[in-house]
Amino acid sequence: MQITNHKVVSFHYTLTNDQGTIIDTSAGGEPMPYLHGEENIVPGLELALEGKSVGDKLKVSLEAADAYGEFDPAMVEIVSAELFDGVDNIEVGMEFQAELPDGEGVQIVRITDVDGDNITVDGNHPLAGQNLHFDVEITDIRDATAEELEHGHVHGSDDGCCGEGCDCD
Ligand code: ZN
Repeated sequence: MQITNHKVVSFHYTLTNDQGTIIDTSAGGEPMPYLHGEENIVPGLELALEGKSVGDKLKVSLEAADAYGEFDPAMVEIVSAELFDGVDNIEVGMEFQAELPDGEGVQIVRITDVDGDNITVDGNHPLAGQNLHFDVEITDIRDATAEELEHGHVHGSDDGCCGEGCDCD
């Protein structure tokens, strides 16, 4: 079986940056499953996996634009601590949902600096602007279930709903 749209693919991966530092890895844990063709993973990696089979190993290097996008300085903003009314300790690394000004839903922003009452919030993905290097081994490919196709993502091995981002519960 080859990887095409509507297959559920599981793979082991190690993700490093340009400096060779490991950002994330599935080594020692479970392989990561995703539904191919639904943009569940970064587009450049999904493209590289197309047509591959179980046991295939590949190294995929992605420019930032093909991974989590270029870093956008316009998405970094310094706001007043008053906006975080009700939060006891404002700390670097905290994430909040912010409403987009055009009313197009919400966006996750992270606090990247705290300087007294000046709080720097960043709406970029934590990996934006970074070239990424994936070391991948494909461990399983199967057909997606009708429910998975309907939801556009993988459900757990217990046949239940994945929960996150899911409408079926
Ligand atoms: Zn679901």
